[in-house]
Amino acid sequence: MRTAYRVRAYPTAEQAAALNRTFGCVRLVWNTVLAWRQARYRAEGVKTSYAQTDRYLTELKRDGGHDFLYEVSSVPLQQALRHQHKAFANFFAGRAKHPRFKIPNPRHLERKAKNLARYQRRMARKQRGSNNRAKARAKVARAHTKVRDARADFLHRTSARLVRDHDLIVLEDLNVRGMVRNRSLARVISDCGWGEFRRQLEYKTQRYGRRLVVIDRWYPSSKTCSACGHLLPALPLSTRHWMCPGCGTRNDRDVNAAKNILAAGRAVSACGADVSHSGSSRMRSAVKQEAQPARAGVPRL
Ligand SMILES: [Zn+2]
Repeated sequence: MRTAYRVRAYPTAEQAAALNRTFGCVRLVWNTVLAWRQARYRAEGVKTSYAQTDRYLTELKRDGGHDFLYEVSSVPLQQALRHQHKAFANFFAGRAKHPRFKIPNPRHLERKAKNLARYQRRMARKQRGSNNRAKARAKVARAHTKVRDARADFLHRTSARLVRDHDLIVLEDLNVRGMVRNRSLARVISDCGWGEFRRQLEYKTQRYGRRLVVIDRWYPSSKTCSACGHLLPALPLSTRHWMCPGCGTRNDRDVNAAKNILAAGRAVSACGADVSHSGSSRMRSAVKQEAQPARAGVPRL
């Protein structure tokens, strides 16, 4: 019997940087090799073997413009080639769709939004009151529904993942518009509403026995240094990084705010003044809607 274990890693900042570099290189190798493969097929009509992609990777590393590929382990890069080879084998056997590039995510949201815009343009060109206009309007309505459903689905999956992966979720009671760095999530939240996202987090944390703490919106999470507690008199929205006059720490606006919100949430949670409801008392992570600290769960898409 095969058993799989899922483990959770807490990398140091240094390790996280090395992992991110590796993931970036893996993605680049996948995309470059896939493009090369397709170009070869279009130009010469030939299939590409694993050995050929391996040789191509070696050439890519040596071409002078990709020296950074030497900075990461060669094993994951070759593994990416193997995965792609397997993906093509499955494709040729009719078991899978054609392998795709890894670049925008979630892709389907963008595509559906584009479709909607196209149908709207088409409708605008039809004469008012005509049958064609009525047909075009029906298509626009269908496209609208698809966009709405796709966004709601994305929001549900995001909130479910946050609740599944974290015992404590701390939210700042803020209007999120324009504040979510993750652009897909920002668009979806502005579409579905911040209140809806919070509502989902509330009932899901309750369902799964997690804790949700909501911090007051007047708490100066962005202006306070998470390292020493120094409070800035003001911080313009456009400032993404700032140097703390108290301790010299260079603070990323969002990560710093997320650390403060987590600390405030833990304090609330520890003294039992939980504003939401109680659940598991284990605390591991915080999530701030606008932030991406190493341990928070908002996916960068
Ligand atoms: Zn400081």
